[in-house]
Amino acid sequence: MRPVAIMHADLRTPLLTSPASSCSQFQHQDEGGTVISIIGTGDFSRSLAIRLVASGFRVVVGSRNPGRVVRDLFPDAVQVRSQREAADAAEKVVFLAVYPEFYGSLEHLKEQLAGKVLVDVSNAARLKTGEASNAEKLAERFPESRVVKGFNVVSAWTLQTGAPDGSRQVLVCSSCSDSKALVVQLARRLGFSPVDMGGLGASRDIENAPLLLFPFWERPVLTTFLLLLFFYGYAFIRDVLLPYIDRGENNFHQLPFVTVNQVLPAVALVTLALVYLPGLLAAGFQLFRGTKYSRFPGWLDGWMRRRKQLGLLSFLCAGLHALYSMSPRRGAERGVLGAAVQQVKAGGDGSQWEQTMWRSDLYLSSGILGFGVLTLLAVTSLPSVGNALNWREFTFVQSGLGYAAVALSTVHTLLFGWDSAFLPATYLYHLPPLYLLALVLPCILLVGRLVLLLPCLESRLAKIRRGWESRVHRDPREAAGSDPQPSWDA
Ligand code: NAP
Repeated sequence: MRPVAIMHADLRTPLLTSPASSCSQFQHQDEGGTVISIIGTGDFSRSLAIRLVASGFRVVVGSRNPGRVVRDLFPDAVQVRSQREAADAAEKVVFLAVYPEFYGSLEHLKEQLAGKVLVDVSNAARLKTGEASNAEKLAERFPESRVVKGFNVVSAWTLQTGAPDGSRQVLVCSSCSDSKALVVQLARRLGFSPVDMGGLGASRDIENAPLLLFPFWERPVLTTFLLLLFFYGYAFIRDVLLPYIDRGENNFHQLPFVTVNQVLPAVALVTLALVYLPGLLAAGFQLFRGTKYSRFPGWLDGWMRRRKQLGLLSFLCAGLHALYSMSPRRGAERGVLGAAVQQVKAGGDGSQWEQTMWRSDLYLSSGILGFGVLTLLAVTSLPSVGNALNWREFTFVQSGLGYAAVALSTVHTLLFGWDSAFLPATYLYHLPPLYLLALVLPCILLVGRLVLLLPCLESRLAKIRRGWESRVHRDPREAAGSDPQPSWDA
């Protein structure tokens, strides 16, 4: 079999040897100064023309009314012509920089566009599901041309300022592999990172891409919001509402600051535990099933794919808690604590004073260290930083340091409560304090992680992750307990 496609940044060199196909006329044999045409003279056309000229192409822009186009908007090297002349001038590639509603008005160019690559840069006007894309409709309209979807995820601004200032990714798809390869090469030459998304059917997703609103953030944000709501409501009922109803004690002044600063660390801790819990569950599934080759349930799959977002939201809550705790108001509280310590010290009870100091310093220190490690995790989740790490380094940071952050934050919370969890007076109205509720999930997580470190489980899990399967999966007949097939060799 002959090699299929070898991409190269330089369009001047013939690079592609491809099997004969209906669209093989688009094999790459571009010479320097290839003429590329753009239909439309708006924002996108202008930015694309500037970039193409800067990359060494000759550009002809086609307008319905070339006389009306303000010449200064395009570089001198760009020729502004009628749509027909521009379509005619293009050697292979014509960009359609007009809105898809007007594709019908371009049908008079069919003859000039026949046999050429039409690059559809349009976006969907609204999120569509199941409908044909603009690119598919265009391909139906121009059956003699080869339609490639691409460049729609790049803004006119990014095109003008250069890729380093914006996203470098250009998603490309087409049913003609040679035409797609040509556009992929072109994108590379303009300084972008093309991503081959497959056949023209993928244009539905590509057109929707710029309209998606934080698709991976919806559930993590909702989860964090619900946790905030739950903990705030719980603190309000336990510490403010019930004391007011019961004894007329007015604690409403706590709501804007004290309660918020109780809720934030609780949410940060639980969200952080939610980052690592799916990994633990996945390990449990693999151990139970004795294989890594059966799929996880959909909910676990989705949960695992949103761990980064949950981690960043945990970081946000922890950061806010740190800011609240450093506020002048808390400084005043610490002053009161300091005065109390001085009093105890003056009273001569040295052991009580020492214990208070140990507790307070360990509490602060574990909190600061936990937040520091969490900051490191947040920084390494940035693609530019994460990409600089190899797999082992990334796993060490995200898993090893991640568990260290959970452990430090748990210790911080335990030290906050100290021995109060064992005092009946802590359970106001038979309700445990907020910090105890927040500790449940992280403690389950840490105990689960320790259990997985048991040599018998750890080695079995390591084997499974390297492809080993239990007997049940190796031979289903053994699992069913049926007799082996009779053998005449015996
Ligand atoms: P634009 O500034 O409005 O320009 C569109 C151009 O289309 C006009 O300058 C006009 O050129 C031509 N046109 C207008 N009405 C027409 C009609 N009835 N028939 C034929 N041509 C007509 O729009 P744009 O921002 O450049 O966007 C163009 C395409 O690029 C859209 O599909 C958009 O989704 C896509 N896109 C834009 C960006 C961006 O950042 N702007 C980013 C990604 C994708 P003449 O009057 O000279 O013929």
